[in-house]
Amino acid sequence: MRSTEANDFVIESDGRTVWVHRGAETIGRFGRMGVDVHSTMAEQTEGAGQCKCCTHGLTGWKEWRLFQFAMRQHHGADVGDRWAPDRLIADWPNAQFYGPRPAIPADLGLEEWW
Ligand SMILES: [Zn+2]
Repeated sequence: MRSTEANDFVIESDGRTVWVHRGAETIGRFGRMGVDVHSTMAEQTEGAGQCKCCTHGLTGWKEWRLFQFAMRQHHGADVGDRWAPDRLIADWPNAQFYGPRPAIPADLGLEEWW
């Protein structure tokens, strides 16, 4: 199990599943059989649905890119490629078919996440 903490987010991985927490809430999960990007409790209290971007089915680099994009778009959380599950890292040559990792603004000081 490894984890990092930056800008209010904690990223955690056991090599197979990746979780993104903010405070006591888990707002993102990337697993073998799907992606979950969820609204915060505060957002749900204001009427948002639970799911912002969720998929059901075997995941690969394409879904990893979707997860990265959605976590940034909806929560401002940048999840770097070094957090990709081991089976995706082992399939690194296929990452190129789904484009480079999303660029992050340099002034956020989040380079260590990549
Ligand atoms: Zn969901």
